[in-house]
Formats: sequence, C-alpha cells, structure tokens
Amino acid sequence: MKTPATEIRVNGIVQGVGFRPFVYRLAVQYGLAGFITNSPEGVVIKLAGDSAGINALIDSLRQQAPPLARIISLEQSETTLTGDCRRFAIIDSDTGQQSNTHVSPDIATCADCRRDCLTPDGRRHGYPFTNCTNCGPRYSIIRTLPYDRPRTTMTSFAMCPDCLAEYGDPSDRRFHAQPNACPRCGPRLEWRDRAGGLIHTDDPLGEAALANGSIVGIKGLGGFHLAVDAYSASGVALLRQRKNRPAKPLAVMVRDTDTAKRLCVLVPGEEEQLTSISGPAVLLEKRSGTGLAPNLAPGIGELAVMLPYTPLHLLLFNHPRTPDCLVMTSGNPAGEPLCKDNDEALERLGRFCDNFLLHDRDIHTRVDDSVSASSAAPRVFCGAPAATPRPRSGWPLPSPPCWRPARS
Ligand SMILES: [Zn+2]
Ligand SMILES: [Zn+2]
Repeated sequence: MKTPATEIRVNGIVQGVGFRPFVYRLAVQYGLAGFITNSPEGVVIKLAGDSAGINALIDSLRQQAPPLARIISLEQSETTLTGDCRRFAIIDSDTGQQSNTHVSPDIATCADCRRDCLTPDGRRHGYPFTNCTNCGPRYSIIRTLPYDRPRTTMTSFAMCPDCLAEYGDPSDRRFHAQPNACPRCGPRLEWRDRAGGLIHTDDPLGEAALANGSIVGIKGLGGFHLAVDAYSASGVALLRQRKNRPAKPLAVMVRDTDTAKRLCVLVPGEEEQLTSISGPAVLLEKRSGTGLAPNLAPGIGELAVMLPYTPLHLLLFNHPRTPDCLVMTSGNPAGEPLCKDNDEALERLGRFCDNFLLHDRDIHTRVDDSVSASSAAPRVFCGAPAATPRPRSGWPLPSPPCWRPARS
C-alpha cells in the first residue's frame, strides 16, 4: 500500500551534528510517520501525516536546527511512502557514489561531556574519548560519507550494551552519536617510549604530566602535538634544538580561561573566541613577569593560546602534576605534513620526543590547529570567512580549511 507523503531533501552541514535525532524528535512531537536517512547529498526525510504537522516540522527545521547545523538548501516534493506508516524511524544511510554534502568539523568538548569526564563515580570519569552529539571528532574520523559509524575510524570499536542503549535512546544526548564510546568499549591510551615500546601503566595521563620538562608526543584529534612545560626554558630550548626551529613562535595550550587571563591580556571578544566550539588557537597579547619561558615566542608580543579542546587535553591539565601552560606545537618535522598514524609518528617524531601518549582511534584526515586573530574565522567554516583575518607580526595565518572530506 502506498501512502501520500512529502519528501524533504536538506543539504548543508547536516551530518554529524545531531540532525537526524532532532528530526526524529520533531516527527514524534507532530505525530508524523516516515523516515530520515543520511544521503550522499545531505539528508532525505519522508513524512506522512497531516499537512499542518508537516509544515510545522519544516518551520522547525529552519528555525530550530541544532546549533552546529548549517542548512544550505531545503527542497520539498510530493512522493509516496510504502510499508509501515504508523511510526517514524531513522534508517540506514543510502550509500551512493557521489558525495555532495558538507560534514561538521571536529567540535571542542561540550560542557556536559566535560562534566561527565570530571564527575567521580560516573561511568566516563577520567575517560579521554568522551563525546556526544554536540561535540567530539567528526571530520578527522570520517572515511566516506554518508556519516555513519561504519564509515568512520570508530568502526573497529563495537559499542557495549550501555553505549548501545544511549545510542538508541531518542531522549539521550548520545542518540546516534557516531563516535560514542566509554572505557569498556572505546579507544584507549597508550604510553610508549621514544622507540615505540609499550610501557605498561594504569595511568598514561599521569605519566604524561609534563612537569619535568621532557618532550611528549601527544596524539590528539586530527594530528600529533609535541608538548613540553611552557615554563621550562631548557625544555623549550631542547624542543627547538631537536626540531631545528631556532626562533619560530610556539603555540601553547592553557588549563582554562583564568590561566589565559593571567598569562595574557584579553580584549573584548577574545574570551569568546578562545571558548568557541572550534577550539582555535587565538593570538593574545603576552603579559610580562608570568614566568613563562622567554624562548616561547622570542621578540614577539603575542602568544597563540588554545584551551583544552578534547577530553584528553582536559584530563591531562586536570592532573595535579601538569603545569597550567604547555607548549603544543604541531608534530611535524619542518616543512612536512602532519603525522596521522601511530607508526608514522613513532618513526618521524621519535627523534623529537622522550615519550609518546598515543591512542588506538585512527585519524583518517589530518586537521592542524588554526591560528586566528581577533576577527578571523575559526575552525568552524562554511563558505567565506565572516571577516578578513587581522595578521599580526610573526604569526602566519593559515587559509581556512574546506570541510569536505576527500572522496575515497
Ligand atoms: Zn559532548
Ligand atoms: Zn561503552
């Protein structure tokens, strides 16, 4: 039996941003049947039910879309629906050859996930790969579109019953969160020596707490950082010597905004930039007499500062031995692209590091940290930047990346 229905095709940043769960809840709210699926062109929604409900859902799509979504086009046509017309469902993605949709960039850890990581007795307490529909890896882990877990580097981790229950519960903020994971079923940290040898420890983050000025290669979201205590002039000098980078300014990550304010002068708007969902490095005016190593950015009045934008970084800074400011410079030999794989990092970065803090979630696409000045568009990017970046002395401003994964 065929039932008259309305088909809606939505293109834009609509995958990896909680769009399907959002539409599911609206369909239930308005008593509509049908389905939603990711397609290579975006998402396709088919709706059967009374026209007032369908129109209300379309209005909500335009006016209340999830904060990370960007709708570029919305096309509506008449169609029919076969099969079960009593309920609404999220169905497996339609996999086609062409891919013409945009995918969300990786998103800095949201406040709820920060709380999950830091709350004692919670099942994600201390778990460095916590994420939800509102935050976490996207672009860096997607192999192909449409965006579903089997087409990401999370496919090798089978969800445990608790994670599966969250994933299937429309009222949960991890409903259809593709990188969903927990300590039982998800990626794990590894602590390794510079030659790649695994060092058994119950506390890799504690081992990596960088108070002693050693250099640690840290695998992050879209690449590797070389990290060292930013207060240690000898540690910074050693990093410069090993990387053969005598004077180029080095970016830092600080524990929180209070630390950023203690180390730098923030003008209006800069705190908002620092805490934006894209977690950019922001160029801030250095204060004097803070104790930071003078060789961080010699001869330059500004420092590129990031906040912890993943649970791994958050938990590292939460460790009592970690200083409140670390150098976090790209883990790539001068002039070469960022490392992506663990083996590649061990081979190419071993001569720079004393140890490695690695994990077993693969990076599919490298994403470097962006440096933004006050008016620059940060990492979340769709179309032209909102304003022309304001260049400052000594700091190169990269061009904004295009958030469209390579076809493979
Ligand atoms: Zn979250
Ligand atoms: Zn789990």
